[in-house]
Amino acid sequence: MFDIDARKVLTMTYEEMVAIPHQLVRVKFDDGELLTGWRQTIYSWYLWEFHRQYPNTPLNMNHHIGNKRFTKGTTLTTGNKCLWSTYDAYVHTPEPIEVETLTELFYRINNRIFNETDRIEEYITTLSADDFIDILDHPKIQELNENVQPNPLSIGSVYKGITAVLKDEHELSRNWLAKAVKSDLVKIGQALQCVGPRGFLTDLDSHQFHTPILRSYAAGIYDAYGCAVESRSGAKSLIYNKELIKDTEYFNREMQLLCHPMSGLVHGDCGTTRTMPFNITDARQLKGLDGKYYVGEDGKLKTIHAWDKELIGKKVMLRAVNCCEVKHRGYVCSTCYGDLALSVPKSTNLGHVAATEVGGKITQRVLSNKHLDQSSLIEKISLDAFDSRFMQVMGKDGSKLGVADAIANRPITLTFARECTPYLADIKAVDEIPEHALPRYSQITQVTFNVLHESGNMESATVNVAVSSRIGYFTAAFLKHVKNVNWELTPEGNYEITLDGWDMKRPIFALPMKQMNMMDFKLEVEGMLKRSKAYPAGKNSPDLSNPQVMSDEIGALFDLLNKRIDANFAHVEVMIQATLIVSEEDRDYRIPHPWENRQFGRFTDIMRFRSISGALAYEKQADTLNNPVSYLVKERQSTSYDEYLRV
Ligand SMILES: [Zn+2]
Repeated sequence: MFDIDARKVLTMTYEEMVAIPHQLVRVKFDDGELLTGWRQTIYSWYLWEFHRQYPNTPLNMNHHIGNKRFTKGTTLTTGNKCLWSTYDAYVHTPEPIEVETLTELFYRINNRIFNETDRIEEYITTLSADDFIDILDHPKIQELNENVQPNPLSIGSVYKGITAVLKDEHELSRNWLAKAVKSDLVKIGQALQCVGPRGFLTDLDSHQFHTPILRSYAAGIYDAYGCAVESRSGAKSLIYNKELIKDTEYFNREMQLLCHPMSGLVHGDCGTTRTMPFNITDARQLKGLDGKYYVGEDGKLKTIHAWDKELIGKKVMLRAVNCCEVKHRGYVCSTCYGDLALSVPKSTNLGHVAATEVGGKITQRVLSNKHLDQSSLIEKISLDAFDSRFMQVMGKDGSKLGVADAIANRPITLTFARECTPYLADIKAVDEIPEHALPRYSQITQVTFNVLHESGNMESATVNVAVSSRIGYFTAAFLKHVKNVNWELTPEGNYEITLDGWDMKRPIFALPMKQMNMMDFKLEVEGMLKRSKAYPAGKNSPDLSNPQVMSDEIGALFDLLNKRIDANFAHVEVMIQATLIVSEEDRDYRIPHPWENRQFGRFTDIMRFRSISGALAYEKQADTLNNPVSYLVKERQSTSYDEYLRV
């Protein structure tokens, strides 16, 4: 072991560094001493190019990769710390450094590390079948695999147990697959498929097969059922690769065109006093809000950090994109946008950044389905406060709905649209309700509860019985009840069924055991951003001048995206902002200022009537030019494509 000053290491050449044999070393940094290895110090030395070029940067202990296991993220995490320390050291000097200059330097450092991996050629290794067999033979893993039961709970706990063994530094320390898991070089989900139960699989239409496969890939899937079910994974990958990728990428391009009028950032503070309330409900939301500013109770501006756990469950008054008072339409100040502004390259189109950041991640998830068709665990239904006044979740797997206890002793009728149950009359003709074909009798998204309260008041409330792509259907027991009590038709032509004689402890609705697949997910995101028929737009838009309503709208997209990808709040705000128009009636499709009227615009209208250059960059150009309305739009917003139309 020897002692050395980190600043001395900084000035050494690579040859001088490798001349010293690997050993323990005590390195003295600006903020303390670190006992570490020489090899780790050599690796950190590459990252200290920041300090060599910008000598006023402090050289701290966290600029060293440290003694933890070297993982996929080590270089990025440590390099980031070096980068931002350098930025901070110079930001308040007469000559601050552009973030882009520093990111370019980081890129060069990374490139150098990549190029010099030939120096460690002799350490490169590979996996073999033996590594998999060794893991299967590990006593703990063997025990877990032998005792797995065909239910989600047991499979989940086996996954947990195997993960714990693979990640344990003292177990399988010479096994290359286990090493790769410990170093984050392979996805744990992929490793588990290979050495643990394959689990519950889904069909092409995302319905879950009832019986799971309990063998692993490494142990081999030999039986006819396993082979048949597993073959669906390949079929899904083929479909995802061909059709879905095409679809998502086209949608991404549409989003880029839609968001393009959100042109850019103005550094500084527009000085607005407008804020948007936002309830932070969980850690995931907090992560997405990292870097946003909010106005504290003392009226001062504060930054939200992903680690500010005390903010969970609180309502904060956000500085928001839709509140920004920058004069130019489609621009936002860096204070309303948040700290993410530091990562937006200069002269970049902000809308393009938002659309590509979000869209790129969706595509990535679609692609990764090929490599990781996970054992599916289907979420339990959760009801919101309103719906739970009328219904409660029932059933072992939480996939059924029945009448809430609070109203169970009251006279109740249910009404629902006739289209939901086109074959309801058929149940009269059958003696036995066929259990396997239940969803064919009814597909119900909404139902109205008519409850006669003790006070004599009749309350009618419409509640949802569908969760994303999972549409509710009547249970066999309830259909039997319907067969007995018959139904009435309301003046509107809807079915009405009384619950007299119905056992309130039994579920009325069941939801299919179906996973929200990436196609469903993309369609939902698309519906929300393009304002498909399910979402009101134009003069029927919700009251967007109410900050809470605006917050709910942005929150809905934010939560939806975060079900599948990590989306940053600022990107979501920019995307929603791009869907806003001043007035459909006045044919004013410009992005509104916060003091103007605000409505949601439908996608095709926005594309056609916002900017003619945007419309011509899209599709159906002839329609745009032939449509007389195109010539009645007086107020058009300029976009970055206008340059191409000027002569
Ligand atoms: Zn602003």
